[in-house]
Amino acid sequence: MQGINGLDFQGKRVLTRVDFNVPQHSNGAIADDSRMRAHLKTLEAILSQNGRPVVMAHLGRPKGEKNPKFTLAPVAEHLGKLLKTKVHFAKDCVGEDVVAQSKALAPGEVLLLENVRFYAEETAGQEAFAEKLAEAGDIYVNDAFGAAHRAHASTAVIAQYFKNARYLGLVMEAEIQNVNKILQGGFKPVCAVVGGAKVSSKIGVLKNLLPKVNDLIIGGGMAFTFLKAQGASVGDSLVEEDYLETALQLQKAAEQAGVGLHLPADVVAADRFANDAQTKIVSAQEVPAGWMGLDAGPEARKAAAAVIRASKAILWNGPLGVFEMPAFAKGTEFLATEIAQATREGSFSLVGGGDSVAAVKSLGKAEEMSYVSTGGGAMLEFLEGKSLPGISAIEGEL
Ligand code: AMP
Repeated sequence: MQGINGLDFQGKRVLTRVDFNVPQHSNGAIADDSRMRAHLKTLEAILSQNGRPVVMAHLGRPKGEKNPKFTLAPVAEHLGKLLKTKVHFAKDCVGEDVVAQSKALAPGEVLLLENVRFYAEETAGQEAFAEKLAEAGDIYVNDAFGAAHRAHASTAVIAQYFKNARYLGLVMEAEIQNVNKILQGGFKPVCAVVGGAKVSSKIGVLKNLLPKVNDLIIGGGMAFTFLKAQGASVGDSLVEEDYLETALQLQKAAEQAGVGLHLPADVVAADRFANDAQTKIVSAQEVPAGWMGLDAGPEARKAAAAVIRASKAILWNGPLGVFEMPAFAKGTEFLATEIAQATREGSFSLVGGGDSVAAVKSLGKAEEMSYVSTGGGAMLEFLEGKSLPGISAIEGEL
């Protein structure tokens, strides 16, 4: 892996792509700076290795327009506080002034460029734009794991202009190393808990994980497509009719590979999709008509816990229920507590891919996991076994 550890950047301008796409309050104030904090170690390493960081990032979806609502100016100010150094802000991300500012950057200081998505050329991955961006650096570091599944100008296309001077940042390295701990073996037994709404959005993950795990626990809404395919009555639970056959095939593949595929034995059923709905615990095989399964039941939770406790490595992607509604968050909360306990007892745990990260954070359990991924969509594609443009651009032929 082409990481930055141990390199001496000798006063060079290190053009660093980060993921500073922070949630904001309506007045523009930063609501959660954890994405910024994640990149501090990379920026501090570049500074301590005598580099001058020129930072590129995007914020929101300005759709190629210079919309002040999406300015990175408040992020620059906050970054200065986090890094305890002067962070200059460039009002653009390309052009003569930006290049001049990058060249004027004093040692120990940082330059943050304005939102790269103020140009439609960014998401289009236009080469001419990438080449202009490249003028602000002598070395390119990609640390934006959260955007690594996009072949955008600043995340992938730009790498070609730094043929012998492109590296993965420390966040990227950590993400790759931690996922590979699960995907490339080393731990036995390994289990994956895959939940969330739909089989269709997780089928790639399930297929890729199957040969790499000993147990696969399926939860959330997607479990009902599997259950229905087996002949269960699932009432009004979420089902993807188009995926019944796929579910059966996956189940067969698991049997052949000797992988334990675990479906919930019981569920918390509700008479409406609402937090204040009437609820009852029912067998997952017999959800009554007019009722829908919205969370894992007590038997299902116990069975999942037994598998987790017996595993040396646990990958978790997707909630076990509609965790956004407190009435149906208990299965997910229980799961987080069990994985945290297994982690304390020495197992390796990784939480990644969209909503499970949100769930683990909202439950205050993020610190108790071995690793929580910074990338939603990017992690999902990584777990699907796809090569991510932001990584392959760095690791391509020099
Ligand atoms: P995903 O982004 O695919 O991981 O899906 C997460 C979404 O799945 C969350 O918004 C949950 O509310 C939803 N979800 C989880 N379990 C269920 C369920 N039993 N029925 C409907 N939606 C669910």
